[in-house]
Amino acid sequence: MPEFKHLTAPSEGTAITGENGALVVPDDPIIPYIEGDGIGPDIWRAAVRVFDGAVSKVFEGAKRVVWFEVLAGEKAHERTGEWLPADTLEAARAYRVAIKGPLTTPVGGGIRSLNVSIRQLLDLYACVRPVRYFRGTPSPVRNPEQMDVVIFRENTEDVYSGIEWEQGSEEVRRLIEYLESQMGKRVRADSGVGIKPISITGSKRLVRMAIRYALDNDRSSVTLVHKGNIMKFTEGAFRDWGYELAAEEFGDRTIKEWDGEPDGRVVMKDRIADSMLQQILTRTSEYSVIATTNLNGDYLSDACAAQVGGLGLAPGANIGDEVGFFEATHGTAPKYAGKDVINPSSVMLSGAMMFRYMGWGEVATRIEDAIERTIQQKTVTYDLHRLMEGATRLKTSEYADAVIANL
Ligand code: NAP
Repeated sequence: MPEFKHLTAPSEGTAITGENGALVVPDDPIIPYIEGDGIGPDIWRAAVRVFDGAVSKVFEGAKRVVWFEVLAGEKAHERTGEWLPADTLEAARAYRVAIKGPLTTPVGGGIRSLNVSIRQLLDLYACVRPVRYFRGTPSPVRNPEQMDVVIFRENTEDVYSGIEWEQGSEEVRRLIEYLESQMGKRVRADSGVGIKPISITGSKRLVRMAIRYALDNDRSSVTLVHKGNIMKFTEGAFRDWGYELAAEEFGDRTIKEWDGEPDGRVVMKDRIADSMLQQILTRTSEYSVIATTNLNGDYLSDACAAQVGGLGLAPGANIGDEVGFFEATHGTAPKYAGKDVINPSSVMLSGAMMFRYMGWGEVATRIEDAIERTIQQKTVTYDLHRLMEGATRLKTSEYADAVIANL
């Protein structure tokens, strides 16, 4: 285990390890958590009670989680002078599975975003967002129950690589001149310019993770979403490399759409991003696992979440080959911080995802079912309360009590 500078590792519990690409999870795993800023402490306090309750219900004391608080964001800055201490990254690497609340992006200090830094430094190359409907949740569509997708969004390339130059800068002037003199491409002189890299490595490892997920979870299809009709060598290449990877590594377990009957194989298909945003609304049930580039995934994840109840119910994870970091997808919602009102379901459901990732699927199902039951009983936090007739409005902590009672 690493030597920490500011942290003390728990004296109890055992680290999760890996063997041949699979996790080896002990009965008392140590799981690092970042409480988060803003509403982070409110939602974490509520969620951890639900996690412990569900683990205890399912395993009746035979298994338990040893939680290990690690620091990032404002709390880290107060205690250590750093926004993202090296200890925190070391802990995530050492214990392999971690969970976090939302983090404020510090103004100044040279950090673009703490979340992006965590993803880049730990090479968490896939942003994974399952989107499904919980019965009873108010929804803007007629058949929200048809939504059941898991989106794998590439996390390290495309617009997230952050390579851009400001209009008017010397760099952009040189780049525009180079493009014209050396590459024969004209760019207006008063432009800002960004670069959108998409690699074979980045695309294939993302699609590999999505196909493995589909196979392990009996999912019917993987859809590659891209804008390859316009951006042929980036978005179009993502599609081509995705199909190539499926044929090379999963040739006997996948089949291309239109190539015959699936016969238990995962169907590989592709859709252009703009058409996909229509189809997910009009032919929702035709989609299961989705693998896509960064910016498409950004739009698609939120559009899908909106169909089934919005941000308060949207879990997520950032996953690489070494570490899985689970997190609510919303931000720190500062106006609600410390008020005990916010909906903690998103972080609870991220925890459910985490337990499923660890192979504790029964715990995950327990949490998901209890949340669904709580919503069906119309006992909800303010965000759903304002959309539901005849519902009872609960505080964050009271909502956790209700979920625990439904475990
Ligand atoms: P936000 O914190 O997600 O909040 C925007 C609005 O979404 C809230 O005012 C609230 O809407 C609703 N909302 C968010 N979480 C909710 C929940 N758990 N339950 C119910 N409603 C919820 O977005 P933001 O205000 O744009 O960002 C604030 C800060 O968070 C920024 O510093 C940003 O950088 C950071 N951020 C962090 C992460 C992360 O850590 N992963 C992600 C996004 C943003 P109503 O006001 O309508 O109730």
